[in-house]
Amino acid sequence: MIEPVNIDEKPKEACGVFGIRSRELAGELAQRTYFGLYALQHRGQEAAGIAVSDGERTLAMRDSGLVSHVFDERRLASLESGHLALGHVRYSTTGSASWENSQPEFLGRGETNVVLAHNGNLVNAPELREELVAEGFEFNSTSDTALIGASVVRELDKGASVGEAVGAAMRGLAGAYSVGMVIGDKLVAFRDPHGFRPLCIGVVEGGYAVSSETCGLDITGAEFLREVEPGEVVVIGDGGIESYRAEGLPEGQRQALCVFEYVYFARPDSHIGGQEVAGSRERMGGILAEEAPAEADVVIPVPDSGIPAATGYSRRSGIPFAEGLIKNRYVGRTFIQPTEGMRQLGLRLKLNPLPSVIEGQRVVVIDDSIVRGNTSRKLVELLFEAGAREVHFRVSSPPVSGPCYYGIDMDTPDQLVGANYTVEEIREQIGATSLSYLSTEGMVAATRQRKGSLCRACFDGEYPTTGTSTKFSLEAKPYAASARAPGGK
Ligand code: SF4
Repeated sequence: MIEPVNIDEKPKEACGVFGIRSRELAGELAQRTYFGLYALQHRGQEAAGIAVSDGERTLAMRDSGLVSHVFDERRLASLESGHLALGHVRYSTTGSASWENSQPEFLGRGETNVVLAHNGNLVNAPELREELVAEGFEFNSTSDTALIGASVVRELDKGASVGEAVGAAMRGLAGAYSVGMVIGDKLVAFRDPHGFRPLCIGVVEGGYAVSSETCGLDITGAEFLREVEPGEVVVIGDGGIESYRAEGLPEGQRQALCVFEYVYFARPDSHIGGQEVAGSRERMGGILAEEAPAEADVVIPVPDSGIPAATGYSRRSGIPFAEGLIKNRYVGRTFIQPTEGMRQLGLRLKLNPLPSVIEGQRVVVIDDSIVRGNTSRKLVELLFEAGAREVHFRVSSPPVSGPCYYGIDMDTPDQLVGANYTVEEIREQIGATSLSYLSTEGMVAATRQRKGSLCRACFDGEYPTTGTSTKFSLEAKPYAASARAPGGK
C-alpha cells in the first residue's frame, strides 16, 4: 500500500477558530467565515467546518480537507441563514483525523444545545471524560472539544447564565483551550487562564468577530479590537460585549502564551501580544547573527517560514540575502510516496536549490526549527550538490527537547533530535560546516514579551501544568462510541 509521508517534519498546529455575530451582515456570514478560515488555513489542514445559526436553528457543514475543498459557492449559499456563524480548521491534536472529530462540534442535552470550535488541548481529558460519562453524558467523538461543550452544558442545565456557565466549566478544564461557541443567541469566546493559544476580537458592521489570529480579522474586513484575555469569557449579544473573569480557578496558573506561535506557527502578518509576528521573527534572526556569526558570502532562508529570520540575520550581519531555495507552493504537507527508490526526491519536490546563488559560495542557511533532523540533513546535501563551498546552518529557535501537551503535535522525545544529541552531534548528523541555534533568552527577547508570560516548555522543560494528556488519550480508553444524535442540527 502507498503511504502518505510527511516531508516537512515541522510540528503541527492545533486548529483555527473563527466566529462572527451581526444582524446587519446576516446573509453573508457563511462567506465571511469562509474567508476567515482561509486566512487561518495554516493552523489546520485536515478538516474544515462552518455552522450558521439564527439563535434557534443551526445549519452546519464540515468535512475532511482544506477549506477550498470542503466549501464551494453552492454549499456556502445553503448555509446563509442566520446572524451567528462559527468556523473551524482542524489539525488533530486530541483524537484522530476522523470525520466525527471535525468541528464545529454540536452538543445537546434536553433543551440545551451548543456549538463549539476549539484550538488547544486539554491535559485532563481522560479524567474529565470519566466524570462526565458518570453523569450521563455520551460522546460520539474522541476529541477533547466535546468535553468542553459538555462541561458548559452541565452548568447551563443548572440554570446558570451563559457567562457564569462558561466560567464554572473552566474550573474543571486543565490545559490549552481557546474556544469559540454559539449558545442560543450568543457568540461566546474564551481562553484558558494560561492563554496558551491566541484569540482576538474584531468589530464588524453591526457586530463582532472572533478569530484565532488577527489575519482572520483582516481578511474579513473586521477591525481589531483587542485580544481575549487569558481566563476571560467574552459573551457577544445584541447588547454588545460582556466580559467575565472565570472565578475560583486553581492557584498558580501563570500566563503561558506559546512562544512557538512567534517562531513558526502563527502567520507572519498576525499580531500577538501587541507584536507583529514577522517583526519578532526578524529580530530572532538579528539576535542569532549576533550570537552565532558566520564567515559567509550569502544568507538564504528555508522558505517560507525562514524568510523573516534570514532577513534579520542578513541585516545584522551585513551578509547579502538571496533566495537560494525555490519552494513549490503547491506541494501539500503530505504527498504520496511513489516508490521506495524515489524517496530521496521527496525534499526536491518541495525545495529546489538555485545554483546561480549557491555555486562556489559560503552559504548561511536559516531555518526556524529542527525537529527530527532528517529534512535538515537532506537540505544540506542539496546545497552541497548545488555547489556550496560551506553550509553554515543557523536555527532561529533553541533545540526542541521535549514534547508539547498544549495543542501542538510534536514527536515523542525519542524522535526529537534536540532531546538526544549535542549540537555538535547534530551538526555531524546533518553534515553542515557549522550549526548554531538561537538561545532561549534571544528567542524570548525577540518576542518582546516577559519570559514568565510565555510557555517555552518544549525548549527549556518548564511545563506550566502537570497534566500530560496526549493526542490519542481518549482513544486508548474503552469508551463506547455513542449513537446519540447531537443536538442543534
Ligand atoms: S510546549 Fe512548546 S509548542 Fe507547546 S505550548 Fe509550550 S512552547 Fe508552545
